[in-house]
Amino acid sequence: MGKEIKYTGTPLKIIQEKPEMVVEWPRSLKHFHTYGKLTKFFQELKNGRLFATYCSNFNCEEKRLWLPPRADCPDCNQLTSWIEVPNPVIGEVYTFTKVEYPGEGIELEYPYFQIDIDLGSQFATIFKSYLLYGEPYIGMEVIAGFRTDNPTNTILDIFWIPKK
Ligand SMILES: [Zn+2]
Repeated sequence: MGKEIKYTGTPLKIIQEKPEMVVEWPRSLKHFHTYGKLTKFFQELKNGRLFATYCSNFNCEEKRLWLPPRADCPDCNQLTSWIEVPNPVIGEVYTFTKVEYPGEGIELEYPYFQIDIDLGSQFATIFKSYLLYGEPYIGMEVIAGFRTDNPTNTILDIFWIPKK
């Protein structure tokens, strides 16, 4: 006769019996995401260090820094190089928004302030993050903070606090 095949699942919860039977069928997806060539950026956040990239191609016209980092130069397609932005990392609030109703998946308490940070003319980009506490205003000086204890292994391992 052989081995009997056993059911190993969990019976579905019945939501409605009539007129048609409806069951609750939970679904979840596990997504494996690689940080790829940007791995260093995320690893260093856990060490309390912020790294940007720049194009080291001598013939490239773009000499400014990329933050968030770009692995490849958008101007000449060459692999970029890493450079540490020395602590304390100080920027200025370029603009901000109060997030009252975040979308699905936000792992912060809300409301919170999402801020865009101007790090100076040596940067080609505006960095987007959040203010750990306080109320932002345009031009406010902020300092980067790092979640080195219990890191999330996400972009939430960097945040900003008012410089005062
Ligand atoms: Zn380049």
